[in-house]
Amino acid sequence: MNTQVLIVGAGPTGLVLACDLARRGVPHRIVDRAPSYFPGSRGDGLQPRTLEVFEDLGVLDAVVAAGMGAPLLRVYNGGEVVAEMRMAEPTEPTPDVPHPNLWFVPQFRTEEILRARLAELGGRVELATELVGFVQDADGVTATLRHDGVEEEVRADYLVGADGGGSTVRKRAGIAFVGDTDETAKALLADVLVDGLDHSPEHGYAWMHEGAGVGLSPLPVADLYNLTAQPPADGVEPTREWLQERLDTASGRTDIRIREVVWATVWRPNVRTAERFQDGRVLLVGDAAHVCPPTGGQGLNTGVQDAYNLGWKLAASRQLVDTYAVEREPIAQGVLELAARTLQRLMDGEEGAYQRGSEFHQLGLNYRGGPLSRDDRAVPGPLRAGDRAPDAPCRENGSPVRLFEVFRGPGWTVLELRDGLALAGDRTLVDTDGHLGAAYGVDGFVAVRPDGYVGLVADDRAAVDTYLDAVATGSRAVR
Ligand SMILES: Cc1cc2nc3c(=O)[nH]c(=O)nc-3n(C[C@H](O)[C@H](O)[C@H](O)COP(=O)(O)OP(=O)(O)OC[C@H]3O[C@@H](n4cnc5c(N)ncnc54)[C@H](O)[C@@H]3O)c2cc1C
Repeated sequence: MNTQVLIVGAGPTGLVLACDLARRGVPHRIVDRAPSYFPGSRGDGLQPRTLEVFEDLGVLDAVVAAGMGAPLLRVYNGGEVVAEMRMAEPTEPTPDVPHPNLWFVPQFRTEEILRARLAELGGRVELATELVGFVQDADGVTATLRHDGVEEEVRADYLVGADGGGSTVRKRAGIAFVGDTDETAKALLADVLVDGLDHSPEHGYAWMHEGAGVGLSPLPVADLYNLTAQPPADGVEPTREWLQERLDTASGRTDIRIREVVWATVWRPNVRTAERFQDGRVLLVGDAAHVCPPTGGQGLNTGVQDAYNLGWKLAASRQLVDTYAVEREPIAQGVLELAARTLQRLMDGEEGAYQRGSEFHQLGLNYRGGPLSRDDRAVPGPLRAGDRAPDAPCRENGSPVRLFEVFRGPGWTVLELRDGLALAGDRTLVDTDGHLGAAYGVDGFVAVRPDGYVGLVADDRAAVDTYLDAVATGSRAVR
């Protein structure tokens, strides 16, 4: 069956892209070679920028209901608490940042929520369907899928590799995955159901005793914890009994019982990025394009942002698709450096290395100087073309409305900001408390992209029309 976009991989990145395409009415297929859905919690730290994307996609309420804030980690030596730490203290929303905190949702729940949203939008994941090869020409890609031992050829305008770190798409495109895998620093991670602890989202445990270290961090599912430990020797399986013995040794207790191991993996720090994120009509997103250590909770979040950057472009034109890699490659590089630096600080035992400040939130990442960013002002203000367009509470017809509600949906928003008012199409927003003025600092026009970034800041309407025409036609006049 032919389609416009073939997405390979139904992890969080592929699912976000599928939802975005589905709500735009773009014909697509999303396939995954796994016979069943991924059961692990691994990418459980959702950053504030991801929560904003989820708000736009209509899944934020479900994600908030399924999650919890950062727990307090109690470090024990024997029975005694020797330290307490939290990744980040919760902060209150501000007018421009409505979701300021890291929010923990097990990855399998996030994926479930995205699949439910995709179903509402008329899409579905095709499981047990593996991409085994493809060829591309100037007009599209012919891909071979295998399902139940039967091969099928699919013709698509674009092939998107959302197929994780071991990406077949990347390998078949001949794109190198440049970087390192550190085999010396391994950790065992497992999701376990535990009896004997008061399962509270408020706090986690870390025990260190007789050379055994075990951490149990609560997940927002009854009795479920994410367990971390030194990995077993090669060839030894991390069975329930093996994990129980580690836990007993580290905690010096026998009353905490592991009932079931739901998922387990041995993790190695990987810092790698694809040499390029695009090869003609083939695009790489998420872990297929970049992998980083989980320190700092960046991997899943960066994949979500890749997909959100690409979705509206795939719906529009080849010229726009060609800006995807230019915008995302430098972002991925920066994210990798941040995650690797954080891992190093943790391994060095540096004080404060466990804490996560606003540099992890992905709100400051921007496309300044990028191919779609144009600032016509003689003197740019603090908010520039390419920056994330901030939220601002306003009033419309006397009722409160947030700017993000005005942005919501798959299109562009042009704001005309003058004298305490914002005109957006036929809507008039009143900047009653000055939040809009404070966040934007613009007297003129702002064109906000479908993915919530400022494309253009200009003094006059004609510049907006020229810019939007240039974006639509892919003309060089954009910049
Ligand atoms: C221990 C651990 C902790 C982590 N913690 C965090 C965190 O707190 N925050 C964060 O942001 N990130 C975290 N991450 C990273 C996060 O889990 C990944 O970045 C995320 O899963 C990437 O999503 P993805 O959709 O790009 O790829 P994946 O989730 O890997 O999905 C790829 C999918 O492609 C499918 N596939 C592969 N090959 C084919 C093929 N040939 N044909 C069809 N389908 C195929 C696979 O079956 C899979 O379902 C963590 C990772 C680990 C390992």
